[in-house]
Amino acid sequence: MKKTTTKLADGRELIYYDADDAAVRDAADPRPLEPTTALSEIRRDPATGDWVTVAAHRQGRIYHPPADECPLCPSRDGRLSEVPASDYDVVVFENRFPALSTDAVAHITGSDDPLRTRAPGAGRCEVVCFTAEHDSSFADLTEAKAGLVLEAWTDRTAELSALPGVQQVFCFENRGAEIGVTLAHPHGQIYAFPFAAPRTVKMIAEAAIHRERTGRNLFEDLVATEQADSERVVLAGEHWTAFVPFAARWPYEVHLYPNRRVADLTRLGPAERAEFPAVYLELLRRFDRLFAEDGAGTGTAPKAQTAPTPYIAAWHQAPAQLGEELALHLELFTIRRTVGKLKFLAGVESGMDAFVNDVSPEAAAQRLREVAS
Ligand SMILES: [Zn+2]
Repeated sequence: MKKTTTKLADGRELIYYDADDAAVRDAADPRPLEPTTALSEIRRDPATGDWVTVAAHRQGRIYHPPADECPLCPSRDGRLSEVPASDYDVVVFENRFPALSTDAVAHITGSDDPLRTRAPGAGRCEVVCFTAEHDSSFADLTEAKAGLVLEAWTDRTAELSALPGVQQVFCFENRGAEIGVTLAHPHGQIYAFPFAAPRTVKMIAEAAIHRERTGRNLFEDLVATEQADSERVVLAGEHWTAFVPFAARWPYEVHLYPNRRVADLTRLGPAERAEFPAVYLELLRRFDRLFAEDGAGTGTAPKAQTAPTPYIAAWHQAPAQLGEELALHLELFTIRRTVGKLKFLAGVESGMDAFVNDVSPEAAAQRLREVAS
């Protein structure tokens, strides 16, 4: 793998990850771009302890441009995009409209008042383009290309964790217009948070209780229990295990853990890295098949009309502080319940953080095994 770090016209970093060690990345960005300043702040909810990012500067961002203006496609035929090169393997660049930025430190004053705790929205937001092919998806990648994306995620985790003030690096993909994705090009994002995310804080608290009660690590016990029980196991590799969690919140939700507990992507060994692409691509392809066959046989809904499954893929990595009990894992879930029906976060979920799931986790696991390749 070859990594080449360059700068866009407005000073943002852009990084190429190439499979070919001889790749030359010297294309300049000729666009007349003015540097933007991100002035977000983070506020701690005094009632829940959750951090909220207030990024009121982001209202002017691009919304659903036509495909021939895609900012994530390579720059070709006189059309200039965010990527100056005419082709690429995997590329990462700083978001032009970031929710978090190290710029904020110079402009926002913090406060330790317990009822008014606030701090600069220091951190970084990056875009990861998985492929130069606009009409593709992560599930269409070759294993080699998916492995290159893993290398990019790993490198970004190492580099962003080292930035001053960064507490947790979150790599994720939102896929599908139903999730609110504004660009169809296959891509994900990385947020370098100046705090541990609320869901992570809850996991750390549960792990501490489990340690106190049993003397053992929560996540090691969790994975071992699911493996032994196997009712909710969806896919068992030599180094990775995917299962539907016991108390799944979403209609179809899979958690993927390395069998050996590690804190973050940088701690994965060669064997785990080598197996990951095949396992993850298989999970994504099963997600795409989940609803494709529902219309078959009913005579009403031709399956060709079924849109690709919208999903969120979220890497959970240990934060810098208090994260020693956490286990690296990926949570993959879809908001689609059945063909044409989405699960919305309405009063019960949005109002109270209390989920009602209409699909039993055991039935979801069974379905996810049925659609295996
Ligand atoms: Zn594109």
